[in-house]
Amino acid sequence: MDVYGSIVLLSGPSGAGKSSLVAEIEKEIKNIFFSVSTTTRQKRDGEKDGVDYYFVTKEQFEKDIKENLFLEWAEVHGNYYGTSLKHTIDALKVGKIVIFDIDVQGFLQAKEKIGELITSVFVTTPSLTDLKSRLIQRGTDSLDVIEKRVQNAKKELLFAKKYDYFIVNDDFQKAKENLLQIVNVSKVKTSSINLDNFIKKWLE
Ligand code: 5GP
Repeated sequence: MDVYGSIVLLSGPSGAGKSSLVAEIEKEIKNIFFSVSTTTRQKRDGEKDGVDYYFVTKEQFEKDIKENLFLEWAEVHGNYYGTSLKHTIDALKVGKIVIFDIDVQGFLQAKEKIGELITSVFVTTPSLTDLKSRLIQRGTDSLDVIEKRVQNAKKELLFAKKYDYFIVNDDFQKAKENLLQIVNVSKVKTSSINLDNFIKKWLE
């Protein structure tokens, strides 16, 4: 793909604090484009269509898959989730730093397709016990759903080694500082820059 730019891809258990970290990064760094995913899961209280997710039916999602509208998609906890290819490319073209919050399956697909553009970060809680209590405290999911998320988290952690960076969110301020540094450094990766173009101009 003839596209340059920086994608910072976050994965990790739901409840590890990825959304709160992204909200902080958006405040601190201009030029961020948070990739709003499409999902078939039920909207939670307080979530807004087009802000947290694009909420669609299973039929619509399957139609979008057939039309190749996704850079990646996966079934997570019994629902579909996917990243729009067009939105991603449009944002990269105008020089935005694109942030993905996607699961391990999605990461593996995206890495296969556009790995050179991706800086990947795995974010987790200090322990499984912490994850369980955060999910219970959050109060957005039933016990049944929490159990699914916990089981999934155990499997996902086994893939953490495949990521470039690993953040344990025990101290939110520290986790935020680490992520800020990673996002800033991603801007100067050679793959983020159209070097052919730069060299051509540099020689003029
Ligand atoms: P939640 O339902 O808690 O918002 O998200 C559940 C899981 O789905 C999280 O691990 C999140 O990273 C993942 N997820 C969200 N959007 C996408 C997406 O577009 N693609 C993939 N593969 N996973 C996603």
